[in-house]
Amino acid sequence: MPEPTIKSDAHRDPLANWNGALMPLSEVKVSVLDRAFLFGDAIYEVIRIYGGRPFLFEDHVARLGRNLEKLNLPADAEAIAGRTRETIAASDVVEGIVYIQVTRGVAPRTHQFPVPAPQPNELIYVADFKDPYVSVRQQGVSVIVVDDMRWKRCDIKSVNLLANCMAAQAACEAECAEALFVDGNGRLTEGSRSSLFGVRNGTILTAPLRENILPGITRKLLMQLAEECDFPMREEALHLDNLSEIDELFLTGTTTEILPITLVDQRKIGTGTSGPIATKLYDAYKKTVDQLATTTG
Ligand code: PMP
Repeated sequence: MPEPTIKSDAHRDPLANWNGALMPLSEVKVSVLDRAFLFGDAIYEVIRIYGGRPFLFEDHVARLGRNLEKLNLPADAEAIAGRTRETIAASDVVEGIVYIQVTRGVAPRTHQFPVPAPQPNELIYVADFKDPYVSVRQQGVSVIVVDDMRWKRCDIKSVNLLANCMAAQAACEAECAEALFVDGNGRLTEGSRSSLFGVRNGTILTAPLRENILPGITRKLLMQLAEECDFPMREEALHLDNLSEIDELFLTGTTTEILPITLVDQRKIGTGTSGPIATKLYDAYKKTVDQLATTTG
């Protein structure tokens, strides 16, 4: 007799909340006329869950709200926040992520936003997540540099991620953890799915918030942690030509957390090992995560 197949936790069907109704993610059905399918007319968020609690939740909800406004999408971020909390509570996910996507909804295909506005489709799902970088977090990772060929509104967290997917694929084919985007002026903007930081002469540097990068939630936390650690910090883009002056380089992101980079296009950064500032900031990050377990609400 064949062995019964046991579904491993890592692959179990996530719990979804589809427009207010709880169901397994695999059972959610959506029309092909949804504008996310036709035009990528949708925004999203990814929130990390540690110990059953969402991390930096208010910041993510605030960014969701700003993106809804930027695209004139008539959905209510606070109502989505409430549903998200309910969905997390209804799941038994301890270490995981919440994915939220709001689309402009279903309407006959026209480029302009339909009038009257259709009901937005709101998807939330809660899934198990295992840190993919556990084994490399200490020693650091290699990255490649690719042309930033994205559109000019990367501040909007839209699901139009084809350039990001192509960059991530190129990194994957080069056996690297991430691809860094470089703009036409040689400035490094961010990663395909992460923010970028460097350290030069003891000062932490990161690209200023403009429409060419995503205002990362982890980026914001990193800046707070740097201040608490008394590390000098300046919003100044790193330049590809000046990487030899950089002592440390690291990525930040919701699922990336803080990840040191030791090789860029095969070139060593600093000593070629993860640096003391990134290490200290990662300790501070972990402490912030630990505090989540002791907060109420
Ligand atoms: N930049 C891009 C392009 C991203 O996709 C992400 C991940 N959402 C980030 C930066 C990091 O943002 P956050 O810290 O909010 O996850």
